[in-house]
Amino acid sequence: MASDPNMIPQSGLLSAEANQAAALAAHGGVLTVDLDAIIANWRKLEKTAVPAECSAVIKADAYGCGTAQVAQALNKAGCKTFFVATIEEARTARTARAALPDATIYVLGGYFQNTGEHYAKINCRPVIGDLNELAEWDVFCRRTGWSGGAAIHIDTGMNRLGLTLAEAQAIIPRINAGDHGITLVMSHLVSAEQLNSPVNAKQLAAFRSIASEFSGVPAALANSSGIFLGAPFQFDLVRPGAALYGVNPTPEADNPMQPVVDLKARIVQIRTIERGESVGYGGTWTARRPTKLAIIAVGYADGYFRAASSNDGTRGAEVIVAGKRCPVAGRISMDLIAIDITDLPPNAARRGHMVTLLGDGITVDELAHHFGTIGYEVLTSLGHRYARVYKGGNVVEPLAKPEPAQAAEQPPSPPSVEQPANPPPLPS
Ligand SMILES: *Cc1c(COP(=O)(O)O)cnc(C)c1O
Repeated sequence: MASDPNMIPQSGLLSAEANQAAALAAHGGVLTVDLDAIIANWRKLEKTAVPAECSAVIKADAYGCGTAQVAQALNKAGCKTFFVATIEEARTARTARAALPDATIYVLGGYFQNTGEHYAKINCRPVIGDLNELAEWDVFCRRTGWSGGAAIHIDTGMNRLGLTLAEAQAIIPRINAGDHGITLVMSHLVSAEQLNSPVNAKQLAAFRSIASEFSGVPAALANSSGIFLGAPFQFDLVRPGAALYGVNPTPEADNPMQPVVDLKARIVQIRTIERGESVGYGGTWTARRPTKLAIIAVGYADGYFRAASSNDGTRGAEVIVAGKRCPVAGRISMDLIAIDITDLPPNAARRGHMVTLLGDGITVDELAHHFGTIGYEVLTSLGHRYARVYKGGNVVEPLAKPEPAQAAEQPPSPPSVEQPANPPPLPS
């Protein structure tokens, strides 16, 4: 059958570009993460916080953007300290694609009994937030001789994790005795995105006072928004997360960060309905005129929240189709969304075209508004069904292994497409 002109060639016989197109077509949507924008955002935060060190918070799969890719890109850009939430995330950051061979990794979730071996094995540091944890950590270190370091988290108002001020005070003698194994002292701001919240000054005063007693130990207080509260909040190290990924750290002013995530979905059908017909589950949206709809292949299972639905009383979110903003029509379904494209020129949108859900002026914060949440949750909810494309960042393309002698002749490789499983075979 090899001579059958209609036979679809094996993916190994296609060019890299055609392979990529085929990979993208297998998904309803394409999520593009701009690693260069993440690097630019990190540099901007670093500059704003100078002379403090700028770390990167890459918990929750780097806010949905991909732990290994983001860690690797930022590490290459000069970032030396990273924060994750769990040991498992630390393992991914340390080992996936060998992203972080020797950066410092802190685990915000703290220390549990019997997790010492895990910390030692991947050489990362717990952020210790209570005296029981500290005692257990000390037992582990004494028993094994491990001296990889740990942070002390002090609670200054969040009432979440952290030693109380009195508890922190009680371990100062240990700090003064030397050889204490504490490599960072930190706290976390409650309302950093509100410039004028009185809580900021209160937490700053409390932290400044206790941190000054941890002599010789670097101190850290600011998250993304905290960096923009000014130099007194920056101490020795800052811990931005959301701002790296394009969320506005200063919601009361223009966003100083670059957008990072672009999300496109495929039109799978165009249909026309009569005035008076309804659209979608529950029939909550009624056409007030003869209406043209584009049905796109993304839904709430992809992290496009159902809260962005529209009905006869309320407008929902907007999607960019053929360069124009068009409204969502009716309820968001699990895998599909209907868009009202009646106002577009005839034939401007066709089956197979891609529409923009996020990007080209639709920001993470705008979507968050329609979803009834914050940009953080929009990012960490981004689905796992998209084809993932990484732009920039000098990411090592896992499939491209040119012979050293041929490397100079290779055309620039296209952006890498993440294959969740079973990547297409290498061209032979
Ligand atoms: C998540 C987190 C950060 C990062 O916060 P952003 O607001 O995303 O910048 C910093 N510090 C701690 C303790 C965190 O849990």
